Amino acid sequence: KEVLIEVKNLKKYFKVGRKQVLKAVDNVSFNIYKGETLGLVGESGCGKTTCGKTIMGLYDATDGEVIYEGENIHSFNTQEKREFTKKAQIIFQDPYSSLNPRMTVGDIIGEGIDIHHIYKGANRKKERQEKIFELLDTVGLNKEHTSRFPHEFSGGQRQRIGIARALAINPNFIVCDEPISALDVSIQAQVVNLLIELQRERGLTYLFIAHDLSMIKHISDRVGVMYLGGLVEFTTSDELYRNPLHPYTQALLSAIPVPDPEEERVKKRIPIDGEIPSPINPPPGCKFASRCSLAIDKCKEKMPEFKEISHEHFVACHLVK
Ligand code: SF4
Repeated sequence: KEVLIEVKNLKKYFKVGRKQVLKAVDNVSFNIYKGETLGLVGESGCGKTTCGKTIMGLYDATDGEVIYEGENIHSFNTQEKREFTKKAQIIFQDPYSSLNPRMTVGDIIGEGIDIHHIYKGANRKKERQEKIFELLDTVGLNKEHTSRFPHEFSGGQRQRIGIARALAINPNFIVCDEPISALDVSIQAQVVNLLIELQRERGLTYLFIAHDLSMIKHISDRVGVMYLGGLVEFTTSDELYRNPLHPYTQALLSAIPVPDPEEERVKKRIPIDGEIPSPINPPPGCKFASRCSLAIDKCKEKMPEFKEISHEHFVACHLVK
């Protein structure tokens, strides 16, 4: 497998007030393989979106590296950054607020083409127009939609416009930041299927961010589970669902309803009590200790190491050996 992006000890901290620091992403490391979908899961506030945005250079890193094709993107000069933004795009969570309401669909999709001067010759206007028509067709819309405005579309259609915008300059890496959570359940599968189809046709690599493990299962090759700024478990999708080892992952998986009512009734549900602690001054030791039913004394004092338990299965828990 070929590595497309290597995330090494990545940290993203935000200053809060004069003295406090919010550790949104705290020492996260993993690889993203070419052509795969890597799922990143965790409750809101766990740092997954900040992690995705730092990986694609929308935020500067506080420390650590994001290596893309052998280069750290956080050391790029302006020209190199511009080139990288052609390769890395994002699909946002909320299709209602992420599209400029004053711009036509054609201009929303064509914005990246204009910024990066993709077409240069005498025919550039025509080529731009044809590309927009082609993209609309690719995402299941049509060329009559070019001159319309975002408010004229449903949530699912708006997300299709967001996908067309992300595809406009032929990226090879797309951060999908909870692209279906704002959509009606009946529409979610359609958008996921479109993303899978596009990946197959274009060889795209996805970092797919989500807050629950149910949809991630269907789309991801590998999954990282985040808690309070750090990874607690990371492995292949099959292994994670068959053999979850971290108590937090086990609790998240136990919360997914199973279709068989009898199985659902007898299923052991592992509760996670209490709120996620603040990422400002997080507790010492294991960050999950305040909510973990298996916590022992050591957990509150010493941070568990994130280590490889078996091939490609990493876990951070004192009880997993
Ligand atoms: Fe629970 Fe301790 Fe493992 Fe943390 S290290 S998940 S507190 S058992």
